Amino acid sequence: MADAVYLLDPETSDIVWCNRAAYAMLGLSEEEVLHHSVLSLQKDVIGLPQWEDIRRVIEGGDAYTFVGRHRRYDGGEVAVEVVTTHFESGKHTFFLSVARDIGKRMALEKELQTREHSVWFALNEATDGIWEWEINSEKVFFSPQLKKMLGYGPEEMHPHLKTWAENIHPDDKVRVLEILSEHLKGIRGDYRAEYRLRNRNGHYIWVQDRGKVCNRSETGAPTHVVGMVQNITEYKQLQSQLEELAANDVLTGLPNRREGEEQMRHQLAFALRTTMPFCIAVIDFDFFKKINDLHGHQKGDEILAFGAQLMRSHIRTSDYIYRWGGEEFVAIFPASDSEQALTAMEHLHGAFRTTEWERLGVGPVTLSAGVACFPADGSDFPMLLKAADTALYKAKSEGRNRTVLAGEI
Ligand code: GH3
Ligand code: MG
Ligand code: MG
Repeated sequence: MADAVYLLDPETSDIVWCNRAAYAMLGLSEEEVLHHSVLSLQKDVIGLPQWEDIRRVIEGGDAYTFVGRHRRYDGGEVAVEVVTTHFESGKHTFFLSVARDIGKRMALEKELQTREHSVWFALNEATDGIWEWEINSEKVFFSPQLKKMLGYGPEEMHPHLKTWAENIHPDDKVRVLEILSEHLKGIRGDYRAEYRLRNRNGHYIWVQDRGKVCNRSETGAPTHVVGMVQNITEYKQLQSQLEELAANDVLTGLPNRREGEEQMRHQLAFALRTTMPFCIAVIDFDFFKKINDLHGHQKGDEILAFGAQLMRSHIRTSDYIYRWGGEEFVAIFPASDSEQALTAMEHLHGAFRTTEWERLGVGPVTLSAGVACFPADGSDFPMLLKAADTALYKAKSEGRNRTVLAGEI
């Protein structure tokens, strides 16, 4: 047998017989083991009084299991699991002990424990939070990291599903709970959602949440779900900045030419369907080169950005304005005839006239513009743009700081 087998005399605690594995396991000879007290092998049972206690338990039951350490000849120890039973032979009671070396098993368990600790540590460090949800009781464990992410202390956040659900942004809640429920039903392989979660200050942060059922009942119903959550607020902000960059001009903050052309397509389609007139204006700053020459390019940029925002804030809310390129802009006046477009342009000229440009370190800044209307001045975008450009040229040649209607040339 690979296990050590001992026959003991309960009265004296002496070993009356043992197999070869018994002394081999301890690195001893048969003589060094036989007729010695079993206590001499033990590291955990000290003295006869303690043996008496153990003896009574063994005699009173079926099998007694003991996990402890046996001494080796070299002073080392062997981790053992000893199962002892008692039996009668003639007038004598004997104990039969079978000892198994569990050193390897113990080492493995220890390693697993350490590894479990490392895995937990790594997970906690790699994510912004871990949670575990016990479905039936609705209890949720929130990791300290998760609490920290939301601005709570380690002792705060009631460990309940409600604590989480009630802090999801109202606009995201239905969607998130739906995804989770679909995972529980097995429709989705895992739970994965991006949503806004309220932090302790009442602000919302963006999170990416991922989870999976990790335990099921005997009937297969999910009982536990574990997951991890990542704070993606910065990423979301960057994303929206990029979207802004793509559609808006960096210097002026106005939507760019691409956006303008897109809007123009919509406008034409709508006008063709409804026979509703609309106008466009091509706007150009007067003598802008001079501003650059006199005050430098950086000042020019500043004036350009200021002028763009001035136009944006003085245009009717139903109109559009785009930076076309350089110091040229295009305005769209939906559902407007030439007279209404001209009035809107006059409003812009007025805003420029009343601006105290000297406060910005420059002389008066003026605009010239050419207005073209659908369908009178053109039935498609290139025609309208060309008509407006021609009118602009006329405005420039007639002395600038004015708007000219294409239809009046
Ligand atoms: P006019 O009103 O008669 O058209 O005169 P102008 O000087 O405005 O001439 P034009 O419109 O042809 O040239 C525009 C000048 O505006 C050229 C360039 O130096 C300047 N400009 C164009 N884009 C920018 C810009 O983004 N920043 C700065 N600082 N200057 C620009
Ligand atoms: Mg110009
Ligand atoms: Mg120009």
